[in-house]
Amino acid sequence: MKHKKFVVLGAQASGKGTQAEILSKKFKIPIIGMGALLRAESRRKTPRGRLIHSIIRTGKFVPFQITNKLIKNQISRPAARRGFVIDGYPRHIVQAKFLSQIAPGIRVILIKISDTEAKKRIAGRRVCAKCGDIYNLIADVPKRKGICNSCGGRLVLREDDQPKVVNARLKLFHQETESVLKYFARRGELIEADGEKTIAEVAREINKKIK
Ligand code: AMP
Repeated sequence: MKHKKFVVLGAQASGKGTQAEILSKKFKIPIIGMGALLRAESRRKTPRGRLIHSIIRTGKFVPFQITNKLIKNQISRPAARRGFVIDGYPRHIVQAKFLSQIAPGIRVILIKISDTEAKKRIAGRRVCAKCGDIYNLIADVPKRKGICNSCGGRLVLREDDQPKVVNARLKLFHQETESVLKYFARRGELIEADGEKTIAEVAREINKKIK
């Protein structure tokens, strides 16, 4: 094992968050989740928070100065000294080049799924309006319909999981992220795994390929 600096990339609902968690536990390295970082920022009642909120609602990219600064801060934290796994960044070639500069040799893991499968998974995803826990109406059904198991909060469709926004996000993923994938593939830093298999199988495939 060369080092423990990873990026997990994939379309929405590819299971990249789950695989990032598995890597994080296995190697005891923190997860740096761009979506979560941005959502935390967007809850702040500052001009920057409000700007981020308005962009996330549309599914478009948050300005690169903001995302790059957030990533740089996160990977320079002492907790990330032994390694880290980034989820949801880079999604654009500008971010990819920036990341290669500040984390040379980082390995990028692509979890591949088809658009059809992504849409099917997202349509069944629900999030607790109170505590943020995530459920799936197919694979991870709540005990009581529409109610969070942990806190009793109401389960809703995340604002950016609405079908119109999902289509915009998938389109963006293909348009922009594919150049990121090519960039890392050319550098021999891209690892691919079949995201339509089970969680355990995907984890096994990744594990074999990162050695
Ligand atoms: P996610 O939860 O990862 O799907 O991200 C939610 C939203 O945050 C996206 O639809 C974008 O608006 C924004 N976002 C996430 N990652 C990035 C990124 N790397 N660059 C720019 N915007 C991002």
